[in-house]
Amino acid sequence: MTNYRFARQADAAEKIRVSFEFFPPKTDELAGKLWETVERLAPLKPAFVSVTYGAGGSTRERTAHTVRRILGETELMPAAHLTCVDASREQVDTVIAEFADMGVKRFVALRGDPVEGVGAAYRPYPNGYINGADLVGALAHHGDFDISVSAYPEKHPESPDFATDIDMLKRKVDNGATRAITQFFFDNDVYERYVERVRRAGIYVPIVPGILPVHNFSQVVRFASRCGAHVPAWLAERFRGLEGDPATHQLVAAAVAAEQVLDLVERGVTDFHFYTMNRADLPFAICHMIGIRPPAENAQQAAA
Ligand code: FAD
Repeated sequence: MTNYRFARQADAAEKIRVSFEFFPPKTDELAGKLWETVERLAPLKPAFVSVTYGAGGSTRERTAHTVRRILGETELMPAAHLTCVDASREQVDTVIAEFADMGVKRFVALRGDPVEGVGAAYRPYPNGYINGADLVGALAHHGDFDISVSAYPEKHPESPDFATDIDMLKRKVDNGATRAITQFFFDNDVYERYVERVRRAGIYVPIVPGILPVHNFSQVVRFASRCGAHVPAWLAERFRGLEGDPATHQLVAAAVAAEQVLDLVERGVTDFHFYTMNRADLPFAICHMIGIRPPAENAQQAAA
């Protein structure tokens, strides 16, 4: 019997591109772990790897340090995240120039969350960039950068409705963004409906699904409640009772993420962005399943 699903996925594998997101580590020990992750994922030849950006000088310096190390020690293409939070236009412009001098050609441009924390009203910094669209405009003005922005399949919690939310995405694209990466989601129908809305609004850039492998279900529930992502009851049911059983939790997480990604491939999605949480295991396994493998392994297979 022919497995048509597998055959279609094998055809699709050649067209699939992946990217990986990391956060800058806080300690030397965590830096070592991140580096193991980078080395494990690098042979998969991602289109780019991105490094998040936080509030506060030390966090920002850690982003710069991580991006510099990726540029200096790997062949990976880093994308630096950048936010408008707590910085004047001049300060943000200096950061952009520093990244550009380092050799950074890609950015993920974000407004960011209020310094007081998610849920507080966002107030632009005096004489700062006011939102993601404003920052995209500044980046496009500074140089010929590849600019990604955020997108929210379940709408951003601050947006009163989808029309307002998608209008912001349109402004970001009109100002020069060439790709949107979504907040994580678990229901592929929600993503598909969102992409339809976006296309109806005349936005044609790729809407790359952000995939969050569930390393820790209770942590994901906390993240989700902060960023307006819905955790479906079926997902909670899959992880129910596994709090004290990390090995089974990990197996279930791999199955859940693989199922989500394989279904998106079936729906024609070709680009995936993985929120790695600085861990390689689940993204590596999922990439393996969709045919993204180290080149040596692919060559061996072709020769066999
Ligand atoms: P924007 O795109 O500017 O706006 C988001 C929504 O909020 C819009 O749809 C708009 O309707 C509404 N909105 C914006 N401004 C206003 C306003 N003045 N009044 C009313 N409504 C408004 N955070 C970090 O701190 N560092 C990171 O590195 C980081 N990386 C991320 C990467 C991705 C792919 C995603 C999806 C999110 C990331 N975030 C990061 C989180 C992000 O900063 C938050 O979601 C933040 O609340 C919104 O930033 P944004 O760029 O999406 O905002």
